[in-house]
Amino acid sequence: MRAVRRAIQFIAHRSRNSSASYSQAARRAFSSSFSSSSLKILEKIEEEDEGRERGRFNASTIHSSFCFPAGVLCTPASMSPITHFLMGWTVANAVPSLTKRERALVTWAGVVPDIDGLGIIAEKLTQHSSHPLYWWSNYHHTVGHNLGFALVVAAMAAVFARQKVKTALLVLFSFHLHLLGDVVGARGPDGSQWPIPWLLPFSNHVQLTWSGQWALNAWPNFIVTAILIGLTLVLARRRGFSPLEMFSAKADAVLVRTLRTRFPLKTSN
Ligand SMILES: [Zn+2]
Repeated sequence: MRAVRRAIQFIAHRSRNSSASYSQAARRAFSSSFSSSSLKILEKIEEEDEGRERGRFNASTIHSSFCFPAGVLCTPASMSPITHFLMGWTVANAVPSLTKRERALVTWAGVVPDIDGLGIIAEKLTQHSSHPLYWWSNYHHTVGHNLGFALVVAAMAAVFARQKVKTALLVLFSFHLHLLGDVVGARGPDGSQWPIPWLLPFSNHVQLTWSGQWALNAWPNFIVTAILIGLTLVLARRRGFSPLEMFSAKADAVLVRTLRTRFPLKTSN
């Protein structure tokens, strides 16, 4: 009975952290020492827990309050891609020698982990069918949010970069800043957390969480994003380019000109 209680405690802990990988780990860990009746209890708890989690997190329950800024380019239960993008851009500007392409690679490395959130499309489309696909509920914060995927992204970036090592290292840093952002400030509105299985696919044993994690729509996220926007504008005025260079050279030039007209650069003489 003591072992069952331990399992219940483990699953209770898992339900607070909401990751399928926890329950899988629990099953593996306990299956060798549990009697079949104990395992049945464990399975029941697990099923109930997952049902609760689906009810909480499935695509039909997604609301704009998950998003930051509210309603804009939201990836539910993940920090806003805009914030991640600006973080990546700031990293890309840390090394002045990077080319335009290398800056783009480093910037997008800060957003790309959320590619595993695209399962939301399939989940939304099939939510009322007889065979709903829980691709977002099951894979978001898992498939793209780990070291293995970070290494793949860094290797791909190196292929397209001229300064391969420098770019790959900055890509890794930018990618991990995304993970840090999610761990620190992506708590769901009901207080649920999604642990990040950082060592996947090599190991399932590291699940990154932080008990002090703040909510997606909490004020620190607004402050962080506001600071990043300010920093982006300061850099654009000083360096003569902004993230708009990735979308339109004309728009980028207009922004820089506007900033320099309003806040002229000091001339040296
Ligand atoms: Zn994320």
